[in-house]
Amino acid sequence: MDFQLTDEQEQLRRSVRKFAEAEIAPHVMEWDEASHFPQEIIPQLAAMGLLGVIFPEKYGGAGLGYMEYAITVEELSRVDGSVGIIVAAHNSLCTNHIYKFGTEEQRQKYLVPLAQGKKLGAWSLTEPEAGSDAGGTRSSATRKDGGWVLNGAKTFTTNGHYADVCVGMAVTDKSKKSHGISAFIIEKGTKGFRPGKKENKLGLRASDTSEVIFDDCFVGADNLLGTEGEGFVNSLQILDGGRISIGALALGMAQGAFEAATKYAKQRKQFGKPIADFQAIQFKLADMATEIEAARSLLYRAAWMADRALQQGAGAAPYTRESSMAKLFASEVAVRVANEAVQVFGGYGFIKDYPAEKYYRDVKLCTIGEGTSEIQRLVIARQVLGK
Ligand SMILES: Cc1cc2nc3c(=O)[nH]c(=O)nc-3n(C[C@H](O)[C@H](O)[C@H](O)COP(=O)(O)OP(=O)(O)OC[C@H]3O[C@@H](n4cnc5c(N)ncnc54)[C@H](O)[C@@H]3O)c2cc1C
Repeated sequence: MDFQLTDEQEQLRRSVRKFAEAEIAPHVMEWDEASHFPQEIIPQLAAMGLLGVIFPEKYGGAGLGYMEYAITVEELSRVDGSVGIIVAAHNSLCTNHIYKFGTEEQRQKYLVPLAQGKKLGAWSLTEPEAGSDAGGTRSSATRKDGGWVLNGAKTFTTNGHYADVCVGMAVTDKSKKSHGISAFIIEKGTKGFRPGKKENKLGLRASDTSEVIFDDCFVGADNLLGTEGEGFVNSLQILDGGRISIGALALGMAQGAFEAATKYAKQRKQFGKPIADFQAIQFKLADMATEIEAARSLLYRAAWMADRALQQGAGAAPYTRESSMAKLFASEVAVRVANEAVQVFGGYGFIKDYPAEKYYRDVKLCTIGEGTSEIQRLVIARQVLGK
């Protein structure tokens, strides 16, 4: 067993950290307060290959794996979870769905500019009445004139207003239930396709979370992504990789909150000494550090298994259990760590001049997005019980 990251992985961590500290950190609160989507850094993310981390170079990607992807999202989220989730939804949801299930023509047309970061992606599964029960999708796609007409409304789509390409799920055969939902590629500007309400959120406020509306939206037959009827089943496979990114989002924010709390504990003096000298504070920091390391181990193992699956193809061991465990544990650790970070900051943890309150707001998404903690437990229980 080798726990050492490679030199290249360490180098990637250093360069993403340097970029995040130089280009993102100075703007974090301003973007958060204004709910400003940081479009200005998209070209820099693209130039660094961070919008195509897990895709082969022949398709415009960086040709790296899930370990590098986890490190990337972790380091961006250590500074700003909003940037972490923008990159995550683009890479492992939208772009990966096209990479995994697209035809060669679709890969050339959509995957290449997405992986190069020339275009931004979104992925729409959730609907107002179909959240955890995403198989209950109601948006529909009906055959017409050699293509499809889409109708319905999606909710909570990350990057919804800013995406050039959206992968959306719609019912093509109601009688087949979860095997009657198909995936479609919809381009910005397509008639009848538009983003709707932009959500005003508790946290991750610089990321965009929006409704996506299909109103008699016609797309060609070649916009069907994957086999007709298998869009929902394929989405579950996409979420196996997606959960690694939400685990990394959680891990990065937990790390950021922990570092902020540790620094503050050394500086803040009460009763004539730094609060870090009090055992009560030391124990908090010790528990935070231990839980973060445990989360990192679970997450990197899931990423390592995902990389093995990429290399070995069809015969590789599934990693649904591990990615769910990593997502569940890392997100719950992040909530506990951010909560304790606020406590270490005392009253200053409650005000916006200090970083703890933002981590506290931002981390909560991790126990909800891409399957709530309750749904992760259902997935893990099914695996444990062999169901
Ligand atoms: C900021 C943000 C970004 C998002 N980005 C995207 C995106 O890009 N694309 C996308 O498609 N979706 C996205 N989502 C949607 C997200 O995946 C859903 O919110 C999530 O799956 C939960 O669905 P829901 O909100 O409808 O909650 P519900 O499913 O209504 O759940 C409510 C509560 O009931 C519990 N519950 C539900 N069913 C069960 C059960 N069987 N057993 C036990 N408990 C249960 C849940 O765990 C939860 O506690 C995003 C959400 C947010 C907030």
